[in-house]
Amino acid sequence: MPVLVINCGSSSIKYKLYARGPEDPLAGGIIDGVGGDRPRHFHTAGDRQFEAELDVGDYRQGVAAIVEALAEWGSPPPISDPAEIVGVGHRVVHGGDRFSESVVIDCAVIEEVEALGSLAPLHNPANLAGIRATRDLLPGAVGVAVFDTAFFATLPPHSYRYAVPERWWRDYGVRRYGFHGISHRYLAERAARLLENPRPNLVTLHLGAGASACAIRDGKAVDTSMGMTPLEGLVMGTRSGDIDPAVVFHLLEAGLPASEIRRGLLREGGLLGLSGMSSDFRRVADRARAGDRAAALAVETFAHRVRRYLGAFLVQVTPCDGVVFSGGIGENSHEVRHLILTGLETLGLVVDPARNRGEGERRISADTGSVDIWVIPTDEESLIARDTARLVNAPSQL
Ligand code: ADP
Repeated sequence: MPVLVINCGSSSIKYKLYARGPEDPLAGGIIDGVGGDRPRHFHTAGDRQFEAELDVGDYRQGVAAIVEALAEWGSPPPISDPAEIVGVGHRVVHGGDRFSESVVIDCAVIEEVEALGSLAPLHNPANLAGIRATRDLLPGAVGVAVFDTAFFATLPPHSYRYAVPERWWRDYGVRRYGFHGISHRYLAERAARLLENPRPNLVTLHLGAGASACAIRDGKAVDTSMGMTPLEGLVMGTRSGDIDPAVVFHLLEAGLPASEIRRGLLREGGLLGLSGMSSDFRRVADRARAGDRAAALAVETFAHRVRRYLGAFLVQVTPCDGVVFSGGIGENSHEVRHLILTGLETLGLVVDPARNRGEGERRISADTGSVDIWVIPTDEESLIARDTARLVNAPSQL
């Protein structure tokens, strides 16, 4: 009973096909440069890899190419007929305060996701394009929307409200929604299993090109670093994260156009802005090691901001059972984990240097610490596949 997971980003479509369960991917790939001149399709089926250039690139053609690849590439291809696909799980970035869990997609869901487009103008339209394309091309498959915001439905009002005039919240939806929820939920569920505690108190740190922290009490999200949009919070590849909002007025009054300020905060800030050379953490860290002061400052500021949130979230989930590192930076950089965790022994966080340098999923805390510290590679697709399989098999349980 194959289930397809589709993640339509602002210029790419990532996908994975699962056979029986989320541990069992049959094939997957990415179409890069959707909407650009020369989109490229990278596909893996079993141990075989394929690459192709596509002619034209809108989302519908991208999804058509994926369906074709799944049924035709490989020996044998993972499926013989696209009609075998029983469910398609879509990552949908913004579910607003309307969707607190994954849902089977129908016309009403499509309309609501469309209406939420003003809150996520780069993402929800791309997600919807993928949803519409799969409904056309795989009419027999049940579509499921899995929302990046849904895990934060349990945030209490004192955590999701900003201290701004109430009418801004009422009339314009100004509040914290949180993002990376699929990843934080995956990490929380995985940590619950590893800690053998079904409702642990955790701080999860998703540190990748986008970065966010989440406080989890009794297995439920109670606070997060991202806000009304994914700009708030940690220092990211090109996003500034937290900033005094008055900076915007200061720059406007100094004559900078709003578009330039937006670009500075979203595309030219973060590691790129501080280092002046790259948004890629590994490259910035390499330069820092070679003695570049701006690069070193970028790494230190990144780690400092994570520590600030870690402290703020530990007090909300005390007694804390576990701290989890994930994302490309959190999973791979023992140096940044060391910078973040240094000197926190009195909070029960003690790192074992030997375990910190290893690879893959593992506990990196020393036996003397009271808080377990884990590295857990995130797997958002497997969670989307799991929700999809559950709803395809039991749509009446909605
Ligand atoms: P995305 O948010 O695009 O999924 P990832 O989670 O893949 O991003 O994280 C990308 C980031 O991880 C990049 O900044 C990259 O430099 C960093 N990264 C990947 N591998 C390493 C490594 N070995 N050491 C340090 N940083 C790494």
